[in-house]
Amino acid sequence: MTDRNFLKTLRTPTPADPLRILVSACLTGVMCGYDGTANGEYPTVLKLLNYDTVRLVKFCPEEYSFGSPREMCDLHGGTGDDVLDGKARMLSDSGIDWTEGIVRAAEKMAALARREDVELCVMMDVSGACGSQVIYDGNRFSENKAYQIGAGVAAAKLRREGFQIISQRDYASLEILYQKLDPTHKINEKAIDHHETEWYKSYFNLS
Ligand code: SF4
Repeated sequence: MTDRNFLKTLRTPTPADPLRILVSACLTGVMCGYDGTANGEYPTVLKLLNYDTVRLVKFCPEEYSFGSPREMCDLHGGTGDDVLDGKARMLSDSGIDWTEGIVRAAEKMAALARREDVELCVMMDVSGACGSQVIYDGNRFSENKAYQIGAGVAAAKLRREGFQIISQRDYASLEILYQKLDPTHKINEKAIDHHETEWYKSYFNLS
């Protein structure tokens, strides 16, 4: 989970000097999902397109290495950090080992983040590449579909390089971000981040 205090320390950007945010490309409507769609609509992130105080740097790690459309893929035997440590693998839906390709894509995304000097990342949760809070544990299409706490490979790599990440469903964090981008934005105090939901606490036995 992301430290919300970090978001409060972000500078107040201007149109001349916008906040630089690295974003999972699909969250902004780019058709880079495994099935050639944008994986649905995410208004909480699409909203960022309306501010002149933000510059979005869009990237899709899976498309970078595997193209679009492509097979679905998930992590097997651990999290994105475990993949980076050589202890887990990313497999395509049909069982092809995509580990080397996703690590290469994660390195490319981190290099982009460094080059663009991004100040925050907003990434698609649950993805084995971009997930930052919760990811699948094994094949999401299996009968025993399961989730685990952890980051996907690209998100893990970005975190290791010191970048902060929030997801499309970290609504409380996004509220803070909206106010940074537009000081007139009134924060919705009822908004919560994904790790604060009843589903999260109950699924991971944290209640
Ligand atoms: S790899 Fe990331 S950016 Fe690409 S489709 Fe999946 S979640 Fe979106």
